[in-house]
Amino acid sequence: MRASRIKDRTVNHEPASHSAASAAIASTHFIRNIIEADLAAGKHALRHWSGRPGPGAQQLAGPLDPARIRTRFPPEPNGYLHFGHAKSICLNFGLAEDYGGRCHLRFDDTNPEKEEQEYVDSIIDAVRWLGFSWEAPAAGADAQAECNLYYASNYFGWMVEFAEYLIASGHAYVDSQSAEEMRARRGTLTEPGVDSPFRERSVDENMDLFRRMQRGEFPDGAHVLRAKIDMASANINLRDPAIYRIRHASHHNTGDRWCVYPMYTYAHPIEDALENISHSICTLEFADQRPFYDWLLERLAEGGLLQRPLPQQIEFSRLNLTYIVLSKRKLIQLVDEGHVTGWDDPRLPTLVGARRRGYPPEGFRLFAERVGVSRSDSLIDYSLLEDCMREVLNETTPRRMAVLDPLKLVIDNYPAGHGESCLAANHPLKPEMGRREMPFGRELWIERDDFMERPSKGYHRLYPGNLVRLRHAYVVRCTGCEHDPSGRVSVVHCEYLPDSKSGTPGADAHKVKGNLHWVAADHAYRAQVRLYDRLFSVPSPGGRREGDADGVERDFRDDINPDSVRVVDGWLEPALKDAQPEAGFQFERHGYFVVDRVDSRVGAPVFNRTVTLRDSWAAGGSHRR
Ligand code: ATP
Ligand code: MG
Repeated sequence: MRASRIKDRTVNHEPASHSAASAAIASTHFIRNIIEADLAAGKHALRHWSGRPGPGAQQLAGPLDPARIRTRFPPEPNGYLHFGHAKSICLNFGLAEDYGGRCHLRFDDTNPEKEEQEYVDSIIDAVRWLGFSWEAPAAGADAQAECNLYYASNYFGWMVEFAEYLIASGHAYVDSQSAEEMRARRGTLTEPGVDSPFRERSVDENMDLFRRMQRGEFPDGAHVLRAKIDMASANINLRDPAIYRIRHASHHNTGDRWCVYPMYTYAHPIEDALENISHSICTLEFADQRPFYDWLLERLAEGGLLQRPLPQQIEFSRLNLTYIVLSKRKLIQLVDEGHVTGWDDPRLPTLVGARRRGYPPEGFRLFAERVGVSRSDSLIDYSLLEDCMREVLNETTPRRMAVLDPLKLVIDNYPAGHGESCLAANHPLKPEMGRREMPFGRELWIERDDFMERPSKGYHRLYPGNLVRLRHAYVVRCTGCEHDPSGRVSVVHCEYLPDSKSGTPGADAHKVKGNLHWVAADHAYRAQVRLYDRLFSVPSPGGRREGDADGVERDFRDDINPDSVRVVDGWLEPALKDAQPEAGFQFERHGYFVVDRVDSRVGAPVFNRTVTLRDSWAAGGSHRR
């Protein structure tokens, strides 16, 4: 019964809350298979809070639904989230949604030096923006609402206690070698390591030293606490890994309470276990750590400090995309060196950047669904991401007219001073999105490249003698043009056919090949429009190129696209004047645009191009801006 319900849910992946565009069927993948097998076997049926009461415990206490999975998204708050994190968020929160489970947002803040509240806040915003929640309403009259937001640093007390248990049970020791000595004795992939001279210290001596480390009696680096496993293990991660180090540093959450801090590889499994995580999903580089993850939790379960079943670590391959970089280090460099305007620069692959760029959150969900989940490394073409954004925006955005490179068009037989309105649908396929009025007049702005004095072959737009339709308005015949002193076309002249207005019976009598957008010069509204493009001009920034000699090192910054943004003054139809920050539009024939959420003012929106209507970077195609 349970299994079939889950199955149905998987197949009929509920698109309504995402977007109509994501009506795609959720693809099944190996992680879903593991979860479904675990649920069918009742692996998690008896799970409840596994640690003893402690920080965070109250929030998890109370009756738990049986047979529920728990996943988590555990960012380190040391930078802004990027597109790779979006994949992980969609995966972890998406699985919890699909299987009626929970996903925890957990700040993995065990490193006091690099973490900041600013990043914590931005991560909370980004996960919410993507449309996910770590809060679950109360399930019954007496039940409490769940707030599954956690900080690893709240478990420091538990981690120290567990470390003392490892010492007491002979599974950990204090090593007093220098960092270099430890490195020298670690061995290599082909040679075993060498035991530390401090490895056989007595339990009492280890306990005494570890407590004095906690009291701050030693300087940074004087000692470390190491798990006692096997210096000859084929897996280097099992050669007595460090689990605690001395750091006299202030922490953003715990202040100066601690001067010992746990290593990530020690802290992470404990965080998962304390939070009752069933499936701990991470990227492939942690596969070699899994034996230590399991070793540690086994020892703690043996000692009665944790209950079974223990969380299971599952790895998948990280997202790699062409034309961008996704490493925090490189993103920080781009921001700090001023290659972009900040973390939220619309060209950066951060989620704050994407939001300003106008990428809809539903587009990320759709993308995550499309790229799927696997264990093999792959490089995804950036245009797949853009296609997902287009697909969502095509469904959701109202159409508007905007002229970005204006040329004056004068309709000589249209009465001067006369004005009228044209009715234009906001969406060609969605009458429910309504219509708006567009003022029309004798003088209009059209796009400069919609006119050619001497047309090339196959050119169907305006040229002397040719007929075109002005969208939602009349058919006009071009009669000629004027030039400025430099010889550049300054005004185009035409005559309109009064019986050809769109929506009137006469409209169909005139068959024309060109269909141009326009705005009325008297009513047009001038606004700054930023034409964003890709930040890098090659698929693998900093990567090897054909013909590179061996050993040539490239710098990803040399591949920055010099034309990644062009700022123009556009003439927009008046309906755009009151557009609200973050509202998205399709500018007909141009692409999708969004009102910039930072630089826009009431009545003075600034527009960012989100994505062009078609892929202009496709292989072989010329790159049109
Ligand atoms: P980076 O490698 O860019 O510095 P990170 O892995 O150090 O990122 P964390 O804050 O530790 O960043 O990541 C939080 C979660 O996001 C982790 O579970 C990590 O596996 C996942 N994640 C990070 N980058 C990617 C990616 N490119 N694809 C999928 N998941 C990712
Ligand atoms: Mg990391």
